[in-house]
Amino acid sequence: MSDCGHDPLMIQALADGELDAVHAAEIERRIGACPDCAALHAEILALRDALATDGMRVAAPDRLKRRIAESLAAAAPAEAMPRMTRRPRHWAWLGAGAGVAAAASIGLFAVVGAFQEDVALTADLVGGHVRSLQASHLVDVETSDHHVVKPWFDGRLTFSPPVIDLKDQGFPLVGGRLDYVAGRPAAAVVYRRGRHLINLFVWPDASAGGLERSTEADGYAVRRWRAHGMAFAAVSDVNPADLALFETDLKASGG
Ligand SMILES: [Zn+2]
Repeated sequence: MSDCGHDPLMIQALADGELDAVHAAEIERRIGACPDCAALHAEILALRDALATDGMRVAAPDRLKRRIAESLAAAAPAEAMPRMTRRPRHWAWLGAGAGVAAAASIGLFAVVGAFQEDVALTADLVGGHVRSLQASHLVDVETSDHHVVKPWFDGRLTFSPPVIDLKDQGFPLVGGRLDYVAGRPAAAVVYRRGRHLINLFVWPDASAGGLERSTEADGYAVRRWRAHGMAFAAVSDVNPADLALFETDLKASGG
């Protein structure tokens, strides 16, 4: 409880539309009367909008970070965080049995941070894909034989990316090259689907929990997942359904 006696859990519930009409009216009345609760309510709404507005659909890699920065600035979470710390009274909730609500607010900020990271990574992956097509540097080792690509990687990386033959599934192997994802060395295994190319980026990632992401950025489909202590990201201008199939086939074959 804050010093005004209002329950932040109820404010969160109001923002989430979880209150019945009678309770919603009561909390709205209290928000109208208490600047601190009104500010918390505004922060919750702003953060939710920031997450919903750009969601998982993003624009051109070049414009990406700027757009997200603008949308986050407009929604003011950067402003909201220092404001939280400037109002120590709200931290009294922690000692008043409403720690869950405070933790939920902190969780929201963590989500925004993770979201920004996510967007930056997607931009990096699409950028890597586009560069590989533009710079005539699609592959360092060009072969449809995964028995050649696999040892080629093993001699050049500190991890061992799976190189899987998916010719029978309609995704013939083109080759492999060394690349960088978020500043770390990564394997790029290149596949073809008709006239479209697929870059499969693989890098070590021991994070717990399954990272499953499906996004589209400026006409490119991006699918990410984790397996075997590695992060996988497939990027292509192939239609998203085909890229989903690629992921399914790769996983079914042990990738
Ligand atoms: Zn209040």
